Amino acid sequence: MVESKDLLASVSDVTTETEYFSPVPKGYKKGKARYVIVMGTVMSGLGKGIFSSSLAKLLLDKGLKVAPIKLEGYLNIDSGTLNPFRHGEVFVLDDGMECDMDLGTYERMLDQNLSRANFTTSGQVYQSVLDKERHGDYLGRDVQMIPHVTGEVKLKLRRLAMASDADVVFVEIGGTVGDLENAYYIEAMRELAYEEGLGSCCFVGLTYILEPKTLGEQKSKAAQLGIKQMMQMGVQPDIIACRAENPVGEQARQKISVFSNVPFERVFSMHDSASIYTIPAMLRDCGLDFEVLRLLKIEDRINLRHERIEWGKWCDFTDRIGKEKYEVTIGITGKYTSVRDSYASILHAIEHSGIALRCKVAIKWIETTGVADKNVSAHLRDVDGIIVPGGFGTRGTEGKIACIRYARENNVPYLGLCFGFQMAVLEFARNVCGLGKANSTEIEPDCSEPVIDILPEQKKIEGLGGNMRLGGRDVALKSDTLAWELFGCADTVRMRFRHRYEVDPKYIETLTDKGLVFSGKAPEYPIMQILEIPGHPFFMGTQAHPCLTSRPLRPQPMFVGFVAAAMQHHYPDEKLCDCVEASRKVRI
Ligand code: GLN
Repeated sequence: MVESKDLLASVSDVTTETEYFSPVPKGYKKGKARYVIVMGTVMSGLGKGIFSSSLAKLLLDKGLKVAPIKLEGYLNIDSGTLNPFRHGEVFVLDDGMECDMDLGTYERMLDQNLSRANFTTSGQVYQSVLDKERHGDYLGRDVQMIPHVTGEVKLKLRRLAMASDADVVFVEIGGTVGDLENAYYIEAMRELAYEEGLGSCCFVGLTYILEPKTLGEQKSKAAQLGIKQMMQMGVQPDIIACRAENPVGEQARQKISVFSNVPFERVFSMHDSASIYTIPAMLRDCGLDFEVLRLLKIEDRINLRHERIEWGKWCDFTDRIGKEKYEVTIGITGKYTSVRDSYASILHAIEHSGIALRCKVAIKWIETTGVADKNVSAHLRDVDGIIVPGGFGTRGTEGKIACIRYARENNVPYLGLCFGFQMAVLEFARNVCGLGKANSTEIEPDCSEPVIDILPEQKKIEGLGGNMRLGGRDVALKSDTLAWELFGCADTVRMRFRHRYEVDPKYIETLTDKGLVFSGKAPEYPIMQILEIPGHPFFMGTQAHPCLTSRPLRPQPMFVGFVAAAMQHHYPDEKLCDCVEASRKVRI
């Protein structure tokens, strides 16, 4: 057998002499990083990202450096153009990458900011291969799926390993084993394991155990077939995680073990759980973390003292789940109301704040197409707070504005997120400033009072090519405002953006003269980023998406303030802590 180290050529020194085309970044040290590769069988939507991030968290707690990456099969260059109704929300990273919502799961579980290096699509992979081909980088070879496209995938993983100095890279392959579009990723992982050598890679197969109601017992055949398909592709799983509604019994696990050559103790039950945040404990209780460390031969790298401290903090958080003392109902408006995944980060941000404040938050979805001033109270009478989330287009906008008016006039806590910020400005302009025709040019391109508009000259200043303003940006806070207090009296905070339209500066004076306060702005440009109305129990909007940066142990301050205000709304006779005090307590 050829020594696998001989197969690796550095990127600049690719050779045409052999069949072993496998470029690696300069300075890459084989063996430093190990790889955990997670793929799904039987069906999609099993929670590969939740599994992978939970396992990564367990290793991170042990003092190891981890770096996740999601490999998407689709040809889009990023997720920016995907419809959230079909694919779940578009998650935006600090560097402006628009990606799959699983990246949000990784950021939340690991409390780590990720970048475009942690996300790849087939579109990106093919684009770099084709660019290299045009550049003449393949030295006369015919460019093939194997080794060139698979080589590109391995190169990306090794680059990530080097850049993050990771002990373990977690590779999540999108889709399901057997899909045509991710087959080359699986092949690339087979090659990676071969080249990196024994003990370098741990393959995890996530599968699903059926439990048909008519039979009343767990059936493992579909899982067996799915795993067999993995093996036919040259991948021997090291661990099988069995997703199921109920804990997977011994018999089903034994069958899977026998048919897949995976020792019984590495066939885990990952059954449904009330909260995704208890999955790490489920994996830990089964000893999966140490199984992986043993398989990858990195037990000597861990720090158990570090783990004790981190695990303690995590358990303080998870112990509160389900033990809430209070309960409120938040109304969320939006056109994707039937798909919870389109608002995943908002729901998580609410949950983080609710857990911190010991408050269970029920959600009432409000489809706004039929909502108007005359019937709005029927929709909102029983809610303790209203969120108008991000959105595009025109559908349901008048109903959203009616909801915001109701919140403003009836002292119901309000949080407007991006589009919800813009709608709050329109509501104020129309009903307080008397600009009855105020609108956004996104909704009415020729409107006579374009209070919300695309401002091309600002886009030019920012050098963003007139498209979306994307990613992390600093927000300068105005002192002595509610936003400033919620953020602990900081001068600036970093928030994530994804928008095209903004408040036209020529209306700012009219709005502020009537009492609207812009408490957060872009530091160097007249871009309004946070608004509030003094005297209202909680009326806040932001052009940003604060939900994207809320973390289980560090809930986002605007959400904390909003939930605290909703609690006070629900329990008017109790003196609960006010929103500023709540955000201070949570920070400590
Ligand atoms: N459609 C609005 C804009 O482009 C808001 C975008 C959003 O809510 N993400 O500015």
